[in-house]
Amino acid sequence: MFKYCLECDWQMSTADGYTEEEISEKAIEHFVETGHTVDSIRLPPPIVLQN
Ligand SMILES: [Zn+2]
Repeated sequence: MFKYCLECDWQMSTADGYTEEEISEKAIEHFVETGHTVDSIRLPPPIVLQN
């Protein structure tokens, strides 16, 4: 999961080691504190290389 702010540089990603719960929580905090709109992208599953 990747969440980002439409109005500033705020962003969080599970790729950075955060859990989805942490990201959801922080996104709500960011919205409450700033009133900014936070949008999210569900990352596609990792590509499995087939040999
Ligand atoms: Zn923001």
